[in-house]
Amino acid sequence: MEKYSQLRDRVSNLNGVQLVEAPAVTDTQILYAHDPGYLIKILSGEISAQEQQEIGFPWSKKMVERSRRSAGATLAAAKAALSEGLAANLAGGTHHAYRDRGSGFCVFNDSAITAKALQKEIHPKLKIAIVDLDVHQGNGTASILQNDESIFTLSIHGENNFPFTKEQSDLDIGLPNGCKDADYLNALNQGFDILNTFKPDFIIYLAGADPHEGDRLGKLSISKDGMRQRDECVFQYGLDRQIPIAFSMAGGYGREIQSTVDIHFQTIQTALRYQQQFS
Ligand SMILES: [Zn+2]
Repeated sequence: MEKYSQLRDRVSNLNGVQLVEAPAVTDTQILYAHDPGYLIKILSGEISAQEQQEIGFPWSKKMVERSRRSAGATLAAAKAALSEGLAANLAGGTHHAYRDRGSGFCVFNDSAITAKALQKEIHPKLKIAIVDLDVHQGNGTASILQNDESIFTLSIHGENNFPFTKEQSDLDIGLPNGCKDADYLNALNQGFDILNTFKPDFIIYLAGADPHEGDRLGKLSISKDGMRQRDECVFQYGLDRQIPIAFSMAGGYGREIQSTVDIHFQTIQTALRYQQQFS
């Protein structure tokens, strides 16, 4: 939790960034991606001890509000990106949430809600790609959107990391433990080659900091410079094709919290450089 306030403080001092309070998603928007029964359970707090344990934190009214705003910030970023080119949620990336259950610190799936909401509220024919570069597979996102051909799910993750039972994204690239910059960036380029055939109109990018070598849970060995090159690769892809990108911070569990905040902050700084080039 601490990383979010530190990141916010650093971003608030950046020139050229406008910080906006995260709006909450409505019940209707949550239902674009979630079961009514699950929403009712979360709203009422009638979730079992085991379900709370799978989510990873206890139920409270605050937890519900935080989850609504975490998803709402990704949707707000997406709508801002339509005119700004690039916009970010300083949290979000809750990709382990399934249609009918939460998991791994994720209650509502912000990426799935946002993709569906853009189609419902902006244009029904928008083709959306979810580029998930958090080190953990976007299992909830893949599951929620598995039969949706208008939304392409790409996940590049550690093959031997949580979740141990993977779901099927439109494209999954599982990396071995200890993977270094060159192989990582190669995998990303391969992913983009395949994404090209889908021709997205919009990208939702999960810029997880947990592939970084300083991460406690990541098991990969990507340098800080490699993380910057990864972000550049994604932003350049969008810039070249004038595809708006909304991005979220997703995971990051540095042995030292500072290294995680540094990686997230680097993503914002990199985005800012690219944002100025979007027309
Ligand atoms: Zn993660």
